[in-house]
Amino acid sequence: MRKNGLLVVLSGPSGAGKGTVVKALLEQTPQIRLSVSATTRAPRQGESHGEHYFFLSREEFEKEIQGGGMLEYAQYCGKYYGTPKAPVRQWQGEGLDVLLEIEVQGGGQVKERCPDSVGIFLLPPSWEELERRLRGRGTEDEETIRERMETARQEIAGMDGYDYVVVNETVEETVRIIQSILVAEKQKFSRMKNIYEFWKGC
Ligand code: 5GP
Repeated sequence: MRKNGLLVVLSGPSGAGKGTVVKALLEQTPQIRLSVSATTRAPRQGESHGEHYFFLSREEFEKEIQGGGMLEYAQYCGKYYGTPKAPVRQWQGEGLDVLLEIEVQGGGQVKERCPDSVGIFLLPPSWEELERRLRGRGTEDEETIRERMETARQEIAGMDGYDYVVVNETVEETVRIIQSILVAEKQKFSRMKNIYEFWKGC
């Protein structure tokens, strides 16, 4: 009997290295799919509709919310971000694990609605390293950097709602740890009800 795939939420402050980790994790883990979020923010250079995000107007996004099409959604920096429900359910039904790379308000909603989801919080090795990475992007002024640091602080305060915390020392090690978490999660008794019923009846 095929089991549903895991719903995995990965959050962490901007500068923790989520993007790099997600890319490596997807390359090295064939049974994982990445959910493509919807947003009302404008596309950045190089981003395309349907690949990086579904870029919607505010009206379109609110229509989706009202129609029950979003698994979760949140406002971040004045823009809507949300996870379309249908592809997530379809992939899980096919036995594939689904990864959501989302911020902490949305992560909280997923945990509330799907208590068996797996929440992983990614941290940079140190506060100094976080600041270095945020500055390292180069183009922003001091005020923007300060705002980013404040947003990072708020994200980190939401860490207590997650099941696992991973410090991103190196991408290789972080991917290995996340893969181990997923392997262990699948062996949990709470996901083995069918096997329990079978063996109990023998
Ligand atoms: P960015 O605009 O830099 O692509 O993303 C800003 C923030 O929105 C990031 O922290 C990212 O994790 C989060 N985000 C992306 N997609 C979603 C989503 O579907 N739902 C929620 N709640 N947050 C999202």
